[in-house]
Amino acid sequence: RNASAPDYLKGLNAEQRQAVETTEGPVLVLAGAGTGKTRVLTTRIAHILSLGRAYPSQILAVTFTNKAAREMKQRIGLLVGEAIEGMPWLGTFHSIGVKMLRRHAELAGLRSDFTILDTDDVIRLIKQLIQAEGLDDKRWPPRQFAMMIDTWKNKGLGPADIPEGDARAFANGKGRELYKAYQDRLQTLNACDFGDLLCHPIRIFRAHPDVLKEYHRRFKYILVDEYQDTNTAQYMWLRLLAQETGGSAQKNICCVGDDDQSIYGWRGAEVDNILRFEKDFPGATVIRLERNYRSTAHILGAASHLIAHNEGRLGKTLFTDIADPDDAKVNVHAAWDSEEEARAVGEEIEQLQRKGHALNDMAILVRASFQMREFEDRFVTLGLNYRVVGGPRFYERQEIRDAMAYFRVVAQPADDLAFERIVNVPKRGLGEAAVRQIHDTARALRIPMLEAAAKLAESDELKPKPRAALRAVAANFERWQKALDNTSHTELAEIILEESGYTDMWKNDRSAEAPGRLENLKELIRSMEDYESLRSFLEHVALVMDSEQNEELDAVTIMTLHSAKGLEFETVFLPGWEEGLFPHQRSLDEGGRSGLEEERRLAYVGLTRAKKNLHIWFVSNRRIHGLWQSTIPSRFLDELPEAHVEVAEGGDSYGGYGGGGYGGRQNPYGASRFDSIGSDQRSFSNTYATPGWQRAQQNRNEATDRNWGSRSGHHVERIGYGE
Ligand code: ATP
Ligand code: MG
Repeated sequence: RNASAPDYLKGLNAEQRQAVETTEGPVLVLAGAGTGKTRVLTTRIAHILSLGRAYPSQILAVTFTNKAAREMKQRIGLLVGEAIEGMPWLGTFHSIGVKMLRRHAELAGLRSDFTILDTDDVIRLIKQLIQAEGLDDKRWPPRQFAMMIDTWKNKGLGPADIPEGDARAFANGKGRELYKAYQDRLQTLNACDFGDLLCHPIRIFRAHPDVLKEYHRRFKYILVDEYQDTNTAQYMWLRLLAQETGGSAQKNICCVGDDDQSIYGWRGAEVDNILRFEKDFPGATVIRLERNYRSTAHILGAASHLIAHNEGRLGKTLFTDIADPDDAKVNVHAAWDSEEEARAVGEEIEQLQRKGHALNDMAILVRASFQMREFEDRFVTLGLNYRVVGGPRFYERQEIRDAMAYFRVVAQPADDLAFERIVNVPKRGLGEAAVRQIHDTARALRIPMLEAAAKLAESDELKPKPRAALRAVAANFERWQKALDNTSHTELAEIILEESGYTDMWKNDRSAEAPGRLENLKELIRSMEDYESLRSFLEHVALVMDSEQNEELDAVTIMTLHSAKGLEFETVFLPGWEEGLFPHQRSLDEGGRSGLEEERRLAYVGLTRAKKNLHIWFVSNRRIHGLWQSTIPSRFLDELPEAHVEVAEGGDSYGGYGGGGYGGRQNPYGASRFDSIGSDQRSFSNTYATPGWQRAQQNRNEATDRNWGSRSGHHVERIGYGE
């Protein structure tokens, strides 16, 4: 045993092994897609544990999604041959941040049972503040201000730190005041938003060196995956934890990343953090991995050629040993419209399935979430199992949000936003006037709304009917809160939904959706069983994860390119490669290279998710707001090298494909036309662009923005950002 290396090291190549075995001092692994960066991190943790260099609780490991964290835990368990239950500090920036903040909440003016608000809550809160200032919330949209706050927090800026210009940019110079008011309000609500999960700890570390010191002592090893996508706040947080001031000891920090996969610039990620690493951690060992273990030579060739169009890269070479004469080239397909595209992809999937491929090994990666619906519709028709990861989520449905609001108030009585959501759901005769009165009382007495409601129920300020209703509400919550300690949380959840009349509300509802909603509520209770307490369940939901998907089911994955980072699938479908959609119009509007280059990196991420088969689609027409618009193939298609690409000739498998007539209409950019990939007929783009088309793009742009907006709080997957 002494002479031979442990099993987990055996499969690694020399550079990977160096990255695993250099446990002491700072290490940066800078390497392309599929070279084993994540595998190195996992093995490194196993190595540290099996050498006994640290206990699981002394390792801080940051992954990009919670799913990745779970997988990493599993893999480490396999490697060290025992279940790793106790890796308490393995997770996303957000999940680790919330854990720290709970331990030191009082240092941020919160109690440890604080609530984490989602985007919806945040926007509602901001709307109230804007109205309270006497401002017009049409002119100064709450959503826009929510995004500004998010941007500031990604940079680690509190109200006092924001640049003068920024402060002036909103509400006639009231930006700073509003931001301050927002933070104050959060504090009163005993709540925080996603950005606070890191900003509060950063502030605490700075103001309380003793707290920081405790973490310095605790964490012997720090590891970070997807380092290229850290934003400034995350970077500040890491640096505080990793740099011992004064002491001579170097922290053992290992970051892995790929500058070519930096795709969160729009959310504040700073690829420069990679470049700063060697400066911040002098003497760092920098390791490059060049062998790709994931993809075939064709896929890798296509991806490398595409990304070479970017300037400002650190530059890497990649090679693969995976080369088989039978390997398929990258397939490019044309379709008439998105319905056709979904139909053809569905057929391709069914064909693969007939040949024995598992649906679990296939993924459809879209540029914008609105593209998902067409595929979902098609797959429902076909009876094909699919799962949407990071998409419109279970926890975002109305009935789930209502039920959650009840649970939140029980767990945390100061959660006014939740209380307001359900105070009159089901209808109890508490109209706007009554709610306003609760509001005013709460504000005047500086107490939570629930408490104010209880007070009003005993006073004669309200008419008898609303008063009786409030008394019942207050009594209910009091009883449920008491039950919290001696009833299982799932049982209590059922009781709450019954006694509040919420379940009955849907039972009496005659709409077509009602039965589905009742099923969802049942499913909600079921999903709570996986958590040991109401608190931990609420926390899980707040960090909205993709875990609600049934992982056992064999199903095609549908997700955005952004959330596909780090993952791999045997077969990948990339639909919608058209100018304006991909690259996205907004990145083109920005003018400069940077927006376009980020889109190209996103394309690179998409291509490199595939192990064996890669299908790219573009359509000639998209329907936007009921109007047909013709579109133009993405310039990225032109950037794929001919040697690795095959333009799919339609005709046989898809029933009259490519050649021409779809119901008599001629496809102007049919498959045959696209044989010119990589040749001198480069940019279709300018030739065919029309003002009408551009207008359509703009519309689409807005639609996409809406989709994005709703998830910018986390996300992604949050959030974790995870998404
Ligand atoms: P990405 O940049 O996309 O996150 P990555 O660099 O993190 O990719 P991994 O996901 O760690 O790459 O590895 C890609 C695939 O190659 C995985 O299936 C992994 O198990 C496999 N792999 C990595 N190293 C080796 C190795 N030495 N031998 C065999 N397979 C390997
Ligand atoms: Mg990885």
